[in-house]
Amino acid sequence: MAKYHPNKEINAAIEHAISNGWRFEKAGPRAHVYGVLYCALANRSGCRHNVHGTPRVPEDHADRIYKRVKDCTCQERSA
Ligand SMILES: [Zn+2]
Repeated sequence: MAKYHPNKEINAAIEHAISNGWRFEKAGPRAHVYGVLYCALANRSGCRHNVHGTPRVPEDHADRIYKRVKDCTCQERSA
């Protein structure tokens, strides 16, 4: 089982994003973010979303990822 993030709510949100065509890149050890999610059109005008390692409220952080995936219309615009 792929594991992207130590927090299970956030990990599930990342898996949800990936199943919708997003890409997750883990940041380096010194970066202040844990990783970055890029939508399917991450090249120029696509969305990107910072994922934090230890957000104060992990559930809220996960919710924001779900919302971001839902709100992304890049693929529709490019079609
Ligand atoms: Zn997008």
